[in-house]
Amino acid sequence: MRVVLADLRATDGFVTKDTVAGGYGSRFRPFSRVTSVICYLKRWFHDVPSVQMAYLAAICARWGHEVAWTQEAPVEGDVALVLSSLVDYRREAAWADQMRARGVRTGFVGLAASKLPELFTDHADFVINGEPESAVMALAQGERLNGIVHSEEVMDLDSLPFPRWDLVTEPRRRALQVPFSGRPRGGGFSVLGSRGCPEFCTYCPHRILSGYRARSVGNLADELQMLCERSAYPYIVFRDPLFSEGRDRCLALCDEIRRRDLRLRFECETRLDRLDEDLIDTLYAAGLRAMSFGVESVSSQVLRKVGRRPIANPHQRAMVAHCRRRGIVTAAFYVFGFLEDDWSSVAATIDHSIELGSTVAQFKILTPYPGTPLYNRMRDLVYEQDWQRFDGFTPTFNHPNLSTEELLFLLGAAYTRFYMRPSYLANYCRIHDTRLRALVHRLDRRVSRRHALEETALMSKPVTC
Ligand code: SF4
Repeated sequence: MRVVLADLRATDGFVTKDTVAGGYGSRFRPFSRVTSVICYLKRWFHDVPSVQMAYLAAICARWGHEVAWTQEAPVEGDVALVLSSLVDYRREAAWADQMRARGVRTGFVGLAASKLPELFTDHADFVINGEPESAVMALAQGERLNGIVHSEEVMDLDSLPFPRWDLVTEPRRRALQVPFSGRPRGGGFSVLGSRGCPEFCTYCPHRILSGYRARSVGNLADELQMLCERSAYPYIVFRDPLFSEGRDRCLALCDEIRRRDLRLRFECETRLDRLDEDLIDTLYAAGLRAMSFGVESVSSQVLRKVGRRPIANPHQRAMVAHCRRRGIVTAAFYVFGFLEDDWSSVAATIDHSIELGSTVAQFKILTPYPGTPLYNRMRDLVYEQDWQRFDGFTPTFNHPNLSTEELLFLLGAAYTRFYMRPSYLANYCRIHDTRLRALVHRLDRRVSRRHALEETALMSKPVTC
């Protein structure tokens, strides 16, 4: 059987799918000069192929099937599996229509297909609900999939074959290391050491498809070793939502990387309360070079209302400062528009992002993703009916304290304030000299006054969405 795997490229804005927003995906459209530059850079560093499709390729190959991969054009085959998303589902559905017109049985996989099958059923022979590996194993063993197919999560993740990157990517471009950046341009292998998240944030789509499970350290190290054998000094992008859940397991993995003398670099995403200086040092010695984490809001009250356990500010500052000293790139995530947010709390969160001084920051607008507890709570406030606009950057609901225009204004102000200041450049270039940093902070204050004047002028103009 020839199986076509489709991880379709979107055309409008910078779209990431796969494990972003749990698999719903995000679409970043520039809305200012600062965000135009960020969007441009994201295309360089964040265009990573789908690890879900690489797993499916490995399963099909294990049962002796031919695998064809595409990001655009329809491809001849017997069965096609399309990676679904919320942010680009219409294009995915149209592509599936073309494949079915050619007589290819076509199905959808992923979080969007699982939670909103009605978007895909008219364009598919089957829609897989759940993590897709079990259903695709059945397909590979000759089962004919029809309609909505329930797929049990694989409890023993070690039983899965390793992702087959050779089957779902073009011949790899040479990874180009850009000075001071963590992730190289054109390089990076995604690895899933665990799936799901044991935390309880009610807005998070990472925890609504399946429960938390982790691979054994030995199995994970085997995959890393294989990547090291096939690619010199690989850059690994761990896609686990909470990489350092289980400190001992993390330390054991670092030990194993060093015991096997694996020459690699990696980045991961975690919570700052799952880190301490010793753990960061050990991770660094094993190859950690970049780390991302959610801060979301500076307000503990706002966070508690959405089930997120706040992390004390001194600990946040200490962890980020330690990473800076080590030369580890840090990326902090923030969300505006929680129901308890108002102008002051969002402004305080923007100030906090600057004070925390991560290397980079990402600001988003709260998106009530379908299937999350928060969506059920907010259902009556949601006015947006186009699911593609649930992209992480577009207001989709009536906020009790902030208008759509205010949310967009604050989002723009956050990007400008964070990236257009001297200390951003100093952090990026890893300048630690005390006198230089004092000078940079003085310059920051001047720039901040200028931003405040510009924002006052801008606030008199309407913002369009
Ligand atoms: S910590 Fe919260 S936001 Fe982060 S992945 Fe887990 S549930 Fe989601």
